[in-house]
Amino acid sequence: MKEFLRTKGFKMTPQREMIFRSFFELGEHVSVDELYDKVRSLDHSIGYSTVWRNLKLICKVGLAEEVNLGDGITRYDRVTKIPHGHLFCLTCKKLEEFPVDQLVGVLAETAGERDFTPESFKIEIKGICKDCLNKSEEEIESEEDNV
Ligand SMILES: [Zn+2]
Ligand SMILES: [Zn+2]
Repeated sequence: MKEFLRTKGFKMTPQREMIFRSFFELGEHVSVDELYDKVRSLDHSIGYSTVWRNLKLICKVGLAEEVNLGDGITRYDRVTKIPHGHLFCLTCKKLEEFPVDQLVGVLAETAGERDFTPESFKIEIKGICKDCLNKSEEEIESEEDNV
């Protein structure tokens, strides 16, 4: 990791190393607030802007990317070798991942047919998850009971 950053022209300080490690421990879809909380639990002296700047740096060197789902929270997702899609529940804001190998094949083909060289894919499905759907059905049923 140290070497990797050096090749990109960045220095790895102990503080930076701790922030990076925290990010990768948290794993998927980390918001600045979540990372800040985790970092603060390890070192109280680190400020919010330091955490934010380092998160930006993680993106800049290509280890993570921003995920914006339109709910006002920017999440940061570690970049995986295998691309994945997102299922986002608009009700409880739960974010699930699913494999997209086949889909990416189709998309790459589609791009190729149009002489377009794809660099990245973003596959997002927004909707309502099973839990929320069940919940809303229960609500409807209990409302009917009251009638
Ligand atoms: Zn993801
Ligand atoms: Zn849900």
